Amino acid sequence: MASLRFKMVKEAFQKRPYELETPAERPSEFFAKYVFNKQKMFKYLPLNVYNKMIDVIENGAPLDRAIADEVAKGMKAWATELGATHCTHWFQPLTEGTAEKHDSFLEHDWKGGMIEDFGGKELVQQEPDASSFPSGGIRSTFEARGYSAWDPSSPVFVIGDTLMIPTVFVSYTGEALDYKVPLKKALAAVNKAGTAVAKLFNPEVKKVTANLGWEQEYFLIDEDLFAARPDLLLTGRTLMGHNSAKNQQMEDHYFGSIPERVAAFMRDLEIQALELGIPCKTRHNEVAPNQFEIAPIFEECNLAVDHNMLLMSLMKKIARKHGFRCLLHEKPFDGVNGSGKHNNWSLTTDTGILLHAPGKDAESTLRFATFIVETLMGVYKHNGLLKASIMSATNAHRLGANEAPPAIISSFLGSSLTNLLDHIEKNDTEDILKMSGKKGYKLDIPQIPELIIDNTDRNRTSPFAFTGNRFEFRAVGSEANCASAMIALNTAVAEALTNFKTRVDALIEGGKNKETAILEVLREDIKTCKPIHFDGNGYSDEWQAEAAKRGLDCEKSCPIIFDNYLSESSIKMFHDMKVMEKNELEARNEIKWETYTKKIQIEARVFGDLATNHIIPMATKYQSSLIDNVTKLQAIFPAEEAKKLSANNIDLIKRIAEHNNFISENVIKLVNARKVANKIESEREKAIAYHDTVEPIMFAVRYHIDKLEEIVEDEMWSLPKYREMLFIR
Ligand code: ADP
Ligand code: MG
Repeated sequence: MASLRFKMVKEAFQKRPYELETPAERPSEFFAKYVFNKQKMFKYLPLNVYNKMIDVIENGAPLDRAIADEVAKGMKAWATELGATHCTHWFQPLTEGTAEKHDSFLEHDWKGGMIEDFGGKELVQQEPDASSFPSGGIRSTFEARGYSAWDPSSPVFVIGDTLMIPTVFVSYTGEALDYKVPLKKALAAVNKAGTAVAKLFNPEVKKVTANLGWEQEYFLIDEDLFAARPDLLLTGRTLMGHNSAKNQQMEDHYFGSIPERVAAFMRDLEIQALELGIPCKTRHNEVAPNQFEIAPIFEECNLAVDHNMLLMSLMKKIARKHGFRCLLHEKPFDGVNGSGKHNNWSLTTDTGILLHAPGKDAESTLRFATFIVETLMGVYKHNGLLKASIMSATNAHRLGANEAPPAIISSFLGSSLTNLLDHIEKNDTEDILKMSGKKGYKLDIPQIPELIIDNTDRNRTSPFAFTGNRFEFRAVGSEANCASAMIALNTAVAEALTNFKTRVDALIEGGKNKETAILEVLREDIKTCKPIHFDGNGYSDEWQAEAAKRGLDCEKSCPIIFDNYLSESSIKMFHDMKVMEKNELEARNEIKWETYTKKIQIEARVFGDLATNHIIPMATKYQSSLIDNVTKLQAIFPAEEAKKLSANNIDLIKRIAEHNNFISENVIKLVNARKVANKIESEREKAIAYHDTVEPIMFAVRYHIDKLEEIVEDEMWSLPKYREMLFIR
């Protein structure tokens, strides 16, 4: 048995890097080779159609059905040149990952043959039988129709023989059944509110775009070792396993040199990602052994989300080609860092960057401060919701576990930005205006230091940190669809900006000049949102207490955190910003609770099986060999001496029996807890039961299993150990 494990480990260590062909072209040349981007549109579409498409993409103009046929024609010509024979609508249902249903281009020619055909109708809309996608009760099974509709702002692409068309997915009655619909609405809301505010400073501004630059963390593990761990295979994480003597304590993995096998994987991944238009830029080792990161250059938020979904599926596919499995789970291994996906978020206008530290001129300082403060207002008011947006059964292992970030949302600003806000808060408006003289809008805010916002002053414990020209939302999980976080954040900021504008307008109407009005509202908001600002150590116990005092959401139970979606303030915000209605929020929460339950349920089943079929038998076998040894000692030595000589083994025999008993008794309890929970009707209550009564049993039993792993002879242990899985050579 164990010799099998050793053989596997040895083979894994001896594997050589997969040989890659170097592409003949440079990355800038093969970038977006398989994407129908503006360049290709220009080449394959008539000029008037091209112009119309640009208007659709850049200004959100409605897509006219009449041109859809023409677009489809050009697209098909391009795709067939690349060897595409099929097309699919590609969407993001509320399960994990993406969904697709392929249709070939073939149609009857009605002369006894077939032709390749692809019309505007197929491009624009499809009606996949949606009954097996979760809808949280919105779409009953007798009305199984769901519609997928093309999202022209995300370009189509070719993978293998298939033309992939990014689409939204809605129910027959128009409710969102995916992530993209509310995301697009949230982005529209932040555009509208942001533009109105940006116009206070520059009347020329026409639109505000939200950007997203994600940093995807992941683990790689040798495929053979992965296959020998049923827990990894079925749940994406190890449910048991004694810590490796060496893991990340030497801090020798972060930015260390990349093992050759991994480097080959990364290169392959980057080439294929670049060909699909994902602007990969950064790759490095992460903190934990076998943990890595890939990050592209930031893009418009909706496109960035699509690219992340696409990249995650590419990662899994390409890892297999290299004899690895890619683990996107937030916490595959206990005791070493988990994986996140920092979401770098910013707002830009068609004329410039809004969250960028400005130079000395007061007007841009004021604009900068406005967007910072209103972002903080949104994050403060909806901190519970933002936490809910990143929460999941898997990410819960990372949050609150002394690992970036804690289960409390707060924002790190750094000293320069803090100074600026303090300054604005403390100064008297009239005073500032007197100093600024009467020259039009020109306004000088005295004593504002020239801003060199500290990029270096990074606080890794903050879940929402300002980093120079953007906020970095670090609480997002590695496996998550970024859209979830981006929907909540952009909507919250849109609401804050809308409120800001309303109050500024009221003051202006009341006779105040613009700058005074802006400063007055800002001053009020800086005071209001103070509780969200925290530059200290987010892992400390003092912060937990302090955060509770400040009224921030400190709930740790995942199913209860989801309640935030249905709070009065969330429902109002999503409604006012026209992003989602109450019934959609309710439906989505049903799915969240159900998904939570299912994940823990699967873990509990795998856990029970492993404990019963692997752990107890291995320990018992080892225990029998000890008993055998003890009886033999008794046979050859006088009783007194035999007792002394076998003391250690007798102790081990006892300990094994105790661990085994604890494990088997509690596995029965685990099954019973599940049975009780399964009978609960309400998805919310069921999820809470799984959290409160099922999970803790696994946690308690794991301790005993890991102890057995320490005791049982290495030869007899069948499951690959942490020290073997965590070090690719
Ligand atoms: P870090 O030091 O945080 O690990 P990385 O270089 O790994 O930084 O990644 C930073 C990410 O932030 C990249 O995706 C980068 O493109 C993105 N980014 C940089 N500036 C902005 C911005 N203004 N808005 C949004 N994302 C940005
Ligand atoms: Mg990084």
